[in-house]
Amino acid sequence: MTAKIRLFVEHSLGPGQSVPVSREQAHYLFGVMRLGVGPQVLLFDGQNGEWLAEVAEAGKRGGVLQVISQTRPQQMPPDLWLLFAPIKKARTDFIVEKAVELGAARILPVQTQYTNAGRIQRARLQAHAVEAAEQCGATYVPEVAEMVRMDRLLAGWDTDRRIMFCDEAQVALKPTLPATPGPWAILIGPEGGFSPSEREKLHALDHAHAVSLGPRILRADTAAVAAITLWQQALGDWT
Ligand code: SAH
Repeated sequence: MTAKIRLFVEHSLGPGQSVPVSREQAHYLFGVMRLGVGPQVLLFDGQNGEWLAEVAEAGKRGGVLQVISQTRPQQMPPDLWLLFAPIKKARTDFIVEKAVELGAARILPVQTQYTNAGRIQRARLQAHAVEAAEQCGATYVPEVAEMVRMDRLLAGWDTDRRIMFCDEAQVALKPTLPATPGPWAILIGPEGGFSPSEREKLHALDHAHAVSLGPRILRADTAAVAAITLWQQALGDWT
């Protein structure tokens, strides 16, 4: 038997719940996957863990899933945000997907002085985050925020949240991360890197820690994956 379909639903899950199927999900479940009444699927709502459910009604434009029992408790990711300067579309999609798989709580596209992408399609990126969570077994979908200017974001920053500032100018140094638990954010620059004035401001912040990702310059998408991995290993839920 193939693995059960996992779906994120915007409906609070609990014992005995009937969950309405959205038009898009009906298209996927009953059109693409050809499910009828009876088969079981796995559902999660981002708050109440994962649940086994059964198709109770299957139609072209909708349907009903009947919740049977909980299969996994809710598991929240660590309180880690990923701040990154959007790059080309496919590479930005990759960053969002990998951030969900590796375990981030929030994804914030930021506009830096050398950011290539002038705007992002937030809804598309959020849909990628949902798909990644469905595929990787997560019970939580990180929010993808609207793009904001980095200087504005940093001006209103809650300084309790430390920043792992991935600085390509630190390539000569060893990757070091202070072992301070609590809320964190990773910051990854665009293809053009950080501007000298941005770098200067970031280095002056007490709550920002400049970190090297090794002796080679990584592409921003690679850097995001490497940085989350390092952080997870030191402070996250991998250990
Ligand atoms: N054009 C820049 C490189 C930008 S790489 C240059 O040639 O210097 C894109 C982003 O990935 C950087 O802003 C940084 O956040 C991160 N990055 C890449 N390699 C890194 C490294 N070795 N150490 C720390 N951060 C790195």
